[in-house]
Amino acid sequence: MKTAEIKKIRKSMEKALDAKRYEHTLGVAYTAAALAMYYDADIMNAEMAGLLHDCAKCISHERKIFICGKHNISMNQIERSNPDLLHAKVGSYMAMEEYHVSDRDVINAILNHTTGRPGMSLLEKIIFVADYIEPNRRKAPELSKIRKMAFRDLDRALLWILRDTLNYRKTADLIIEPMTEKTYAYYKNLIVD
Ligand code: FE
Ligand code: FE
Repeated sequence: MKTAEIKKIRKSMEKALDAKRYEHTLGVAYTAAALAMYYDADIMNAEMAGLLHDCAKCISHERKIFICGKHNISMNQIERSNPDLLHAKVGSYMAMEEYHVSDRDVINAILNHTTGRPGMSLLEKIIFVADYIEPNRRKAPELSKIRKMAFRDLDRALLWILRDTLNYRKTADLIIEPMTEKTYAYYKNLIVD
């Protein structure tokens, strides 16, 4: 049963994550479930992907690099020098190997939750958006506007999040992953904003 699986994963996350990350994780899981209800996606898959999306977040940088090396998970130079960026890749691997998730869409939603990708599935979009709008997030600009838009037009909310993320990272002089820009360009082209 999926509900038993979800309960088990929730308990595992409580152990694997620090208190703040665990709160964020619960927020993403129920926000994703609410979005899944609204957009007719699989609610259980949304909850599961939400619970697992940051499962590798509290692992040391050394260990993330070690896991990638050991299991032939590709790393580019940006990721090597900013191992935090690896938590999505390592997380999707752990979801399969340690938490025994076999659903490809759930795995992809974990894998692509930080940068998105062109042509995301509904579940991938839901996790990407839920990660940004969950109730514990407070710092983002225009958050209340994006939260409302998430329940009106998911693609538009996605575009706004990508735009704000790129703006924020440029202003703060933080690393920008090329995939974030690719995803933004793809959805910008798709949506007349
Ligand atoms: Fe994350
Ligand atoms: Fe997250």
